[in-house]
This record gives sequence, structure tokens and C-alpha cells, in this order.
Amino acid sequence: MSSPDEGAPRRPATRLVRAGRDGDLTGPFVNPPVVHASTVLFETVEAMRPGGQRWTYGRQGTPTTAALEGAVAELEEAEGVVLCPSGLSAISTALLSVLSAGDHLLMADSVYGPARRLVDTTLARLGIRTTFYDPRIGVGIADLFEERTRAVYVESPGSYTFEMQDVPALAAVAHERGAVLVADNTWATPLFFKPLVAGADLSIQAGTKYLGGHSDVMIGTIAANARAFGKLRETHQALGLTAAPDDVYLTLRGMRTLAVRMERQMRSGLEVACWLQGRPEVARVLHPALPGDPGHALWRRDMTGASGLFGVVLNGWSDGKAAAFLEALSLFGIGYSWGGFESLAVPARLAGLRTVAPFEAGGALVRLHIGLEDPADLIEDLEAGFARVGNLS
Ligand SMILES: *Cc1c(COP(=O)(O)O)cnc(C)c1O
Repeated sequence: MSSPDEGAPRRPATRLVRAGRDGDLTGPFVNPPVVHASTVLFETVEAMRPGGQRWTYGRQGTPTTAALEGAVAELEEAEGVVLCPSGLSAISTALLSVLSAGDHLLMADSVYGPARRLVDTTLARLGIRTTFYDPRIGVGIADLFEERTRAVYVESPGSYTFEMQDVPALAAVAHERGAVLVADNTWATPLFFKPLVAGADLSIQAGTKYLGGHSDVMIGTIAANARAFGKLRETHQALGLTAAPDDVYLTLRGMRTLAVRMERQMRSGLEVACWLQGRPEVARVLHPALPGDPGHALWRRDMTGASGLFGVVLNGWSDGKAAAFLEALSLFGIGYSWGGFESLAVPARLAGLRTVAPFEAGGALVRLHIGLEDPADLIEDLEAGFARVGNLS
């Protein structure tokens, strides 16, 4: 896409401010118009032929969707990007673009639960088999390849348990065997890790989380390299997916502040995580940016930052005591999703979500998302919560 910034500074925070802006599409406005469209009019019948005009039908794209696609493509260093109506639909679309009946998929045991449900139900029904692998497997994954293994699906760090994976090594093995690497990179965002640069072929974001950043949007993005983009675009169009214009607009608006939000949420998250490590109630904090975390070396090597989402194992606590603790907090909402401006806490229930690499917690596991509040207030809130439940068993 044509960029007014050719030769200008390329540091990430600067790029985020302008990424995807194209005066040819959206005029002189700082933000693109929100185009609500199904029908697009043609001057002539001749113009209805393929290639006859740029905009043809709402589902085929608008200046609003092009602006977000361009911004994500720039951030991900991608050949192309498609937008989906949720993060989960981005996962299903990415997998359907690379797998056919009779194919085999290798998927990390620590993936987002609904991704696991997708492969265990719908993909299984279509004749696509999945083997789950221990997220710490590294190049040992080579032993799990079969004749028809076509894709490896990575989420690093993993949902709830935050195991880091060696994405470049997994990509190298996958490519050697003629398979593609699909990465769900929602935790780090393409600001802190660029899967395509590390060797992945498809990079998924639940834009619902940090890209949108305000807990008011459902959207997914898939960025592809040149090898994977053709089939991705074909599958996305065949399935008829679109993202709603207001959500597309809000996601691009959110991305303009991604760098400041991520830097603040990383710092506050680490401050709260370090404080928790010193508490007698806490057995372990699962956060790859903490020195001493089993994934720390990989995190340091591959990522340039961390998000504000991590796990906390409460020493010998029952699920009931953990529930009372979460309910005693006043600044942490109890709710799904994350990546917004407000702090959240949920119990992690791993039953049925791990089949080859069971997580031995030694107490209830909770997941905290650190928002944009002052971390000193969050620490006081957690301290008060510990005091409230101290006598429970
Ligand atoms: C939330 C999430 C998704 C799904 O995103 P939705 O927009 O809620 O469908 C996918 N992957 C990860 C890692 C997530 O946390």
C-alpha cells in the first residue's frame, strides 16, 4: 500500500500512529470514514467485470476495512491481512485455509479452550485429525509428524498456564516437513512479537483484546506471508466473513494507542506480579517476563515486551477460597476476555483443557489482567482481598 511515510522513522510507536493511512482511500481526514455498505453502485455494466472498479460490494471490502487491513499488515510485516468477526472465527478461518479432509494438525496442549473445541468437533467431523503436543516440546515435535501433517498451531505463551514456545524452531521443523505454522499471537500483540518474521505463515490476533483495547469490540485479524495469503483470502471470501464497520473503526482507533497502553500494562503487570511473588499466599506466578519463569529465556530472546495478563497459583487454596478472594476484590472485575483498560480476574478451570501436558498447580489457579489503573491501588486491593479471606480454607 502506498505510504506517505516512505523514508520516515520506522520505530514501532511512530508507525502505529500512521499505519494504514492512505489518502487515496480516505482523503485528508486523520481517521477513515466509517462506511456502512452492502450495495456499491457501478457507472456502467462494463465496470461490473472483475477488476472493473475498486469497490464492488460491502462484503468485498470498503475504505474502512482497507485502512485496518493496511495497518495490521504493516504492524505484522505481512503480505496481506483479512478481518474476521471475532478472534475465534479468525482461528477457524486460518485453519480451514490450510487443512483439508484427511489432513493432520499438531496443536499445542495449552491453546485457548474454544480453539481446542473447534478441532475436536467441527474439524474432526470434516475428517481433519489433531494431535495435541506438550507446549515445551521444542524440536521434539518432529517425532509427532505424520504423512498428512499439514499444520502446526502455536499459542505462545499458552492460555492460563503461559508456557512459552520456541516459534522459530517449530517453524523450521514444520517447513522442513512441508507444513505451515499458524500462530495465535494475541498475548504479545504484533507490537512485542511478530510471528511472520519469526517464521510463522499465518498470525492470528483476537483484536477483541489489545488491538481494540476498550472491551467494546469483537474482531479477529489474520496476517499471512506470501506463501499463505492466496489460500487465506480464497477461504475468507468463500466463507463470506466480514467484520462490522463500527468494530473495524474502533479497532483502528484502539491501535493508535496500542504502544502506550501495552508499555503501561506491561510495567504495571510486572509490578503487581513481583509483589505477588513475595506473598505467602502465592505458590507461583506464571509470567514469562519474570526472571525464573521456565519460559523466560525464550521470552527474552523472541519478544520485545509483555502484556498485562498472567497466572497466579494460590498455595494449597481450594477453588472456593479463590472464588471468595476474587469476589472480595473491588478494582478487578470478574469477567472473560482481557486487553481492555480495566483490570479483570477469573478462575482458571483447566478440566478437559489439557490432555498431554497436565498442569500440576498445587492450589487454585487464577488469571489476572492488569489494566490502566495505578498499580499501587491494585496492590492495595489485592492485599485487602488476601486479608478478607485469610481465615477461610
Ligand atoms: C480471546 C481469545 C481468542 C478469541 O477471541 P474472541 O474475539 O473472543 O473470539 C483467541 N485466542 C486467544 C489467545 C484469546 O485469548
